[in-house]
Amino acid sequence: MRKFTIIGGGQSGLQLGIGLLKAGHQVRVVQNRTADDVAQGKVLSSQCMFSNAVQHERDLGIDFWSADCPPVEGINFIVPNPDGSGTKLIDWAARLDQNAYSVDQRVKIPRWMAEFSRLGGQMVIADAGIAEIETYARQDDLVIIASGKGDVGRLFARDAEKSAFDKPMRALALTYVTGMTPRQPYSAVEFNLIPGVGEYFVFPALTTTGPCEIMVMEGIPGGPMDCWADVKTPAQHLDTALNILKTFLPWEYDRSKNCQLTDDNGILSGRFAPTVRHPVAILPSGRKVLGLGDAVCLNDPITGQGSNNAAKAAAIYLNRIIQHGDRPFDAAWMQATFDQFWDYAQWVVGWTNMLLQPPPPFILDIMGNAQGLPKLAARMANGFDDPRDFFPWFADPDAAASYLAELKAA
Ligand SMILES: Cc1cc2nc3c(=O)[nH]c(=O)nc-3n(C[C@H](O)[C@H](O)[C@H](O)COP(=O)(O)OP(=O)(O)OC[C@H]3O[C@@H](n4cnc5c(N)ncnc54)[C@H](O)[C@@H]3O)c2cc1C
Repeated sequence: MRKFTIIGGGQSGLQLGIGLLKAGHQVRVVQNRTADDVAQGKVLSSQCMFSNAVQHERDLGIDFWSADCPPVEGINFIVPNPDGSGTKLIDWAARLDQNAYSVDQRVKIPRWMAEFSRLGGQMVIADAGIAEIETYARQDDLVIIASGKGDVGRLFARDAEKSAFDKPMRALALTYVTGMTPRQPYSAVEFNLIPGVGEYFVFPALTTTGPCEIMVMEGIPGGPMDCWADVKTPAQHLDTALNILKTFLPWEYDRSKNCQLTDDNGILSGRFAPTVRHPVAILPSGRKVLGLGDAVCLNDPITGQGSNNAAKAAAIYLNRIIQHGDRPFDAAWMQATFDQFWDYAQWVVGWTNMLLQPPPPFILDIMGNAQGLPKLAARMANGFDDPRDFFPWFADPDAAASYLAELKAA
């Protein structure tokens, strides 16, 4: 039995912590919010997770929600006509091979905290700083920092080579609602791309009060969807979201005009710079700690990959810890552990960062052609589950042209 401390009990920290307990280890999770704080606090994510990521939860016996959570069955990609006619220029949809699910973290995290304690884990409710982390690093075989966007993640130096941006690329807003007309004939992430304005996506989810829909707005900074600074109340937040839909996406407004907020905490607005950090930090004592999840690989939510990445990273780290046996967790092992995750995550980060920039003509060509090529639409939809499949044809004009030619010939 080895001893671990994980700072941060979110998607990655608790998933890894529970995995380590089940592998027979001693685990402490330090979490700066109680289960009640999380359950009764604000929403922090739209957390749509695709099948490969959910499978990691199933493997650990902690997917408690797939039977009750309304599934996301497909992806619908829409671009409005730029002529202001309120019609769609591009509109294609495809089913996912396996359903995706969004379980409100206010539901998931308290349940996982209880499960972690039930399995014998030590849950410490505290905001860990350097002094506490030093103590844990002295006592334990390995300390992992899974603090999400928490300040303590600044222990890890920004990796300028892997970080494409040094400022927020979108103004984000979440609105959790009930009363939306369901999409037919199957549920989907409706992903609307409004050139020059931003993106709006919406999909079913499970929240604290039952099924809901989550509206996600990604406004280009300074544009008309970057409009949350003066919003003071939950009711104003909902009005602002509906006004955006009415102005730019009338089909979405029609579905949504009778919506109500799930609760006053079912809203969020903010922004952050997507950032990749070096995964090993050196404490003042010289001891080293390893970063996990958003703490070291923070993506813009435009592609809905953060929780997916966090789950996949936690699964890789768990496997590598188990494989490592009794050997010391030195800096080389830590770096190699992150590198194994990065072998996968580099494609997710690359694809996500591409979508944050104005689409080059060859991408518009791919997006437009998917309308008449169901195979292409299906591939793009299912790429959300494993974005490695977008490469090279979504990144390189020549590869895109030859892939499109091949599809059209078939
Ligand atoms: C608007 C928005 C929409 C999103 N939509 C999606 C989506 O649809 N799909 C998707 O996959 N991802 C989405 N994400 C991203 C996803 O929510 C995160 O990537 C994911 O939660 C990261 O997991 P994590 O374990 O790294 O961190 P978190 O889940 O953030 O957990 C970190 C935990 O550490 C705690 N903590 C922080 N500092 C300390 C400290 N010093 N001491 C103790 N505890 C501490 C925090 O309170 C928190 O509980 C979205 C994010 C945003 C902002």
